[in-house]
Amino acid sequence: MLKKGNKLYSILTGTCPKCHNESMYKDKNPYHLGQIFEMNERCSHCNTKYKIEPSFFYGAMYVSYAVGIAFAVAAFVISFLFIGTGLLTSFFAIIGTLIFFMPVIIRLSRNIWINFFISYDKNAVKKYNTEKLS
Ligand SMILES: [Zn+2]
Repeated sequence: MLKKGNKLYSILTGTCPKCHNESMYKDKNPYHLGQIFEMNERCSHCNTKYKIEPSFFYGAMYVSYAVGIAFAVAAFVISFLFIGTGLLTSFFAIIGTLIFFMPVIIRLSRNIWINFFISYDKNAVKKYNTEKLS
């Protein structure tokens, strides 16, 4: 099962890549499109700064190509191979899938991107609390 401490947990849930305790996003639902890019500045549990540098999340665009292709391939396989639609219908299935899942793809890409740079640290919260006291 997916649990805290597993990179996939942070990627799929959009939680802090360091402590996995809270969402990085102000609004967890990616389909609230007005807020799709709204992220908290720092994690309130471990103080990790999400935007490592000003243009940090531009890099997530490259990840989104890969994630988009993965969704497109999945749509094609399901439509063409499993359901047995024609090529044209499969093509529209791909377009529809990409449009429908675009918010998810955008969020997943950010989550994957930040997880390249920041790893889970089970002591992160404890460390931060100790720092606050000293
Ligand atoms: Zn955290």
